[in-house]
Amino acid sequence: QGKRGTNGIVVYSGATAGQPHQWLVVQAELRHALERDELILHYQPKVALPGGDVCGVEALVRWQHPERGLLPPGEFLPAAEHSGLIVPLTEWVLRRALADQLGWTATGHDWALSVNVSARNLEVPGFAGLVLDLLAEAGIPSHRLVLEVTETALAADADEAARAVAELSAAGVGVSVDDFGTGYTNLSHLRGLPITEIKIDRSFVTDVVRDPESQAIVRSVIELAHGLGSRATAEGVETEEVRRWLADAGCDEAQGYLFSRPVPWTQISAQPHLEGVS
Ligand code: C2E
Ligand code: CA
Ligand code: CA
Ligand code: CA
Repeated sequence: QGKRGTNGIVVYSGATAGQPHQWLVVQAELRHALERDELILHYQPKVALPGGDVCGVEALVRWQHPERGLLPPGEFLPAAEHSGLIVPLTEWVLRRALADQLGWTATGHDWALSVNVSARNLEVPGFAGLVLDLLAEAGIPSHRLVLEVTETALAADADEAARAVAELSAAGVGVSVDDFGTGYTNLSHLRGLPITEIKIDRSFVTDVVRDPESQAIVRSVIELAHGLGSRATAEGVETEEVRRWLADAGCDEAQGYLFSRPVPWTQISAQPHLEGVS
């Protein structure tokens, strides 16, 4: 983990000694990757419980690296966050994903699009306006876009971020709290925020069938989501037992390898769950 110095230089400590050079290389390469269009998007379906029909898709970025092959976001997003490249990267993701959404709309699917947004984006003045412009340019209604933001980003005392979220939600864009339960736990930050979805982190979902503590947490988050007038969505659903437990507990939507891994949009199946059964 790096810490940003006041001069903007990223400094490292302890076990990560020797990495700064590596990170600078990644940053320089990533800048080229954005220019050369080396990033690609995969989409993971979100299904409605208990039925299993796709109701939305989440865009997840990958880097088709010329030498290292297809890189997962964990390999380059930390460097993008620290360098500020996450700002143009998210803008690229939004443009690409809205263009892809026109594709699946043309084939008759009204799936909502979820895009992960960094706290950094929310702090850039004009971010909300940019998102609304991109929606208008693509001719996509704002309620078909959901922005996934982490708890920590929403909790930050950043006026700019709060303004951006308020402006986007007033225009109809959905606001999802991602990785819920893993970050800032001051629930008072949720009050007054226009949240449409809470995503229960995979760490609570994996063991939910057998672990009573995970069960207590997942039930509470579902109740909290409903109390706030939002949907509860579970991440990382890998087995039929977990799907059934969540459906019985009243969870609204689910995502995970049981239904589908992230795939190019042309490979999304409208009923991934049934496909696995046959
Ligand atoms: P996330 O938003 O929590 O996304 C879920 C991650 O869990 C994805 O990893 C997905 O492939 C993985 N996953 C989904 N279902 C399962 C499952 O059943 N089991 C297991 N073990 N894993 C599952 P991925 O694609 O590597 O993305 C990692 C993280 O990178 C994301 O976590 C998100 O925080 C970030 N990320 C990805 N794309 C973007 C992006 O375009 N912008 C930003 N700012 N962040 C992104
Ligand atoms: Ca997410
Ligand atoms: Ca998540
Ligand atoms: Ca997660």
